[in-house]
Amino acid sequence: MSYSANKNRYDLMQYRRCGNSGLKLPLISLGLWHNFGEIDDYENCCKILHTAFDNGITHFDLANNYGPPPGAAEVTFGKIFKKDFKPYRDELIISSKAGYLMWDGPYGDWGSKKYLVASLDQSLQRMGLDYVDIFYHHRPDPETPLEETMTALDLIVRQGKALYVGISSYQPEEAAKAFEMLKKLGTPCLIHQPRYSMLDRWVENGLLDLLGKEKVGCITFSSLAQGILTNKYLKGIPKDSRVGRHLENGAISESQVTNEIIDKAKKLNAIAAERNQSLAQMAIAWVLKDERITSVILGASKPKQVSDAIGAIKNYSFSKEELERIDKILNQ
Ligand code: NDP
Repeated sequence: MSYSANKNRYDLMQYRRCGNSGLKLPLISLGLWHNFGEIDDYENCCKILHTAFDNGITHFDLANNYGPPPGAAEVTFGKIFKKDFKPYRDELIISSKAGYLMWDGPYGDWGSKKYLVASLDQSLQRMGLDYVDIFYHHRPDPETPLEETMTALDLIVRQGKALYVGISSYQPEEAAKAFEMLKKLGTPCLIHQPRYSMLDRWVENGLLDLLGKEKVGCITFSSLAQGILTNKYLKGIPKDSRVGRHLENGAISESQVTNEIIDKAKKLNAIAAERNQSLAQMAIAWVLKDERITSVILGASKPKQVSDAIGAIKNYSFSKEELERIDKILNQ
């Protein structure tokens, strides 16, 4: 049966303006880093995307290298897009990125104009799209001059292959330089994509202040710490979990699921229960409590994880006492 989106979807989600741009993003977006590769079940991929859009998640986040193998997530997305989402193209914000190793030789990695332009062409082909809504430089390149990378982002927008551009995992100092360059080029930076969760708070050390001051949006990744900040690992490691599947390519591994971290997750879970939230919902809410955060990118291996996460937007305010109790657990 062909897919038809839930008519009430826009009543189920809230949207925040991305910096001072014209674009609004859903408080929760969906990322396709894991669970959309060749090793994953295609029907399940379809269901995850349907559940997301049916709940008002209008933003899907991809990158050239998501898989496995690299490129496979864009192929899977392209297939599902063609089948189910084409009529909704103008209701969707689709992003891709380049910055990590994608193909052999000197032109398939980092931040040269050669790499970025060629990679986006490949991504568009894999996804069957004329343009992406947001194109990111995926990580800073210590060798390529920043001017070249930023000029490449500007060029891509002028070519009509992306509407907006962003950067990911840049430290505040280099981010500030990138913003300045992009502004001068006439293609202001829409958004920064950093890792941010209760367990990884580096953005509180200058980046969020910069984004607030420059009015650049912020969309966070791994806000559930790849599943640690959910109830998944509280009683051991399930076989079908990201850890249990022994995935590579940056995926969390068994050695990171320490007794110490699980002890913290259990204590946080108790606070979540007092708030009538699951731990996943509280972890997302905790990130969204800061208005400078435009959206949290959720990763999901099952449709019900998406529906669970959506519950976070019912309550993302915290009392001073709750925040202090959370900090105390995190600092133990
Ligand atoms: P998360 O921290 O959201 O982890 C996702 C995992 O958490 C899921 O695969 C699932 O694990 C588990 N999970 C999610 N919801 C629930 C729930 N309700 N209950 C129990 N478990 C749950 O994010 P990711 O690390 O996957 O990153 C999200 C996205 O961010 C990526 O897809 C990508 O788009 C982007 N990203 C960007 C990066 C960058 O460099 N710019 C780097 C990394 C990610 P399980 O599979 O075990 O079921």
